Amino acid sequence: MIPLAEAQRAVIDRCAPLPTVRVPPLDALGCLTAAAVLAGEAVPAFDNTAMDGYAVRSADTADAPVTLEVVGTLAAGSAPEGAVGRGQAVRIMTGAPIPPGADAVIMVERTRRLDGGDRVVAEAHVPVGNHIRSAGEDLEAGTVVFEPGEVLQPAHVGVLAGLGIGAVEVVRRPRVGVVSTGDELVDGPEPLALGQVRDSNRYSLLSLVRQAGAEGVDLGMVRDDPDAISAAISAGTETCDAVLTSGGVSMGDYDCVKLVLDEMGEMSWMQVAIKPAKPFAFGMVGGTPVFGLPGNTVSSMVSFELLARPALRRMMGHARLHRPLVQATAAAPLRRRPDGKIHFARVVWAYRDGGYEVRSAGGQGSHQLSSLAAANGLAVLPDGHGAAEGDVVDLIRLHED
Ligand code: AMP
Ligand code: MG
Repeated sequence: MIPLAEAQRAVIDRCAPLPTVRVPPLDALGCLTAAAVLAGEAVPAFDNTAMDGYAVRSADTADAPVTLEVVGTLAAGSAPEGAVGRGQAVRIMTGAPIPPGADAVIMVERTRRLDGGDRVVAEAHVPVGNHIRSAGEDLEAGTVVFEPGEVLQPAHVGVLAGLGIGAVEVVRRPRVGVVSTGDELVDGPEPLALGQVRDSNRYSLLSLVRQAGAEGVDLGMVRDDPDAISAAISAGTETCDAVLTSGGVSMGDYDCVKLVLDEMGEMSWMQVAIKPAKPFAFGMVGGTPVFGLPGNTVSSMVSFELLARPALRRMMGHARLHRPLVQATAAAPLRRRPDGKIHFARVVWAYRDGGYEVRSAGGQGSHQLSSLAAANGLAVLPDGHGAAEGDVVDLIRLHED
């Protein structure tokens, strides 16, 4: 068996960042900027009001309350037609440009209409600049908005759209082909014959690929037949940036993914010192990384989490490849037996009283996928007897829901 860290290094080393592409902002969500993004214009583009109220001259309000003549109305989207003179005010709505002559806004709550709106009483003194959002207060024209290597989150997408940027240079999202192998597999709702198993790995793995920010490509299911497996892998490596297979990498008589990959490329077979997900294969076929994940439902997903996800993140240009570990207290025992492996126990975590606590999410067999669905994290249990109630363990938070 080899240590997990060694297997991770071997894989990550072969998965170089992909080339860059220009994509519309919405398609760039989760991708990394490949070049600095500059503001071509100021945001906001003009001085405007942050409040509904009246655009006034601050000096006119010095002796408030004071009555002003209302000389116009400005809605968001409309441009001022005239200036605000001494003793005058313009009714103004949030987002509308400040008319010339005005240097402050008094919010409507501090005013009182007279004569059906022809005049208004300003009931408070407002200083110069009151409730005015100046041009460029968010972004000044010509400044660097995003440095290269920033992960684009929803707010970034909004900023790009707000600047009128139609395309942004990012590291390309990997296309990741997913293929299931096994004579026993069926797809769809038809009744199962004895010995048949519904293919769930392709669906869970395609979901993980998508969640990792990559693009999943469904390569279907293939029988435990070397020619069929080889054809599916070739189809994958020709059209994808990485290929994931599941099944056929352990010690059974029909585990031919190993054989096929050995012939097709330069593969390394690993017994990784972890549970679940000990068997793992990795190699390059025609320059494309191929991950041979184990067939058991939980193993394939844990293998993806620990070995494929960090590699896909590297391909996307991320600097942080692994999820951050946090410390959690076992709220109930998490037992295991010594076997030379690190165990990744499916747990439910919660943040309570200033710290994380974890408890088992259910059965820990590598075929018990429902307990992974019930879990939101993996507790890292080093070789030994596991954690007693109150012990502190490392926790991988898989998601927050
Ligand atoms: P293998 O790694 O091919 O020996 O498969 C190990 C176990 O995982 C067997 O019980 C398989 O039936 C099961 N298995 C393999 N592939 C899948 C799949 N795509 N979906 C669900 N179970 C699978
Ligand atoms: Mg199999």
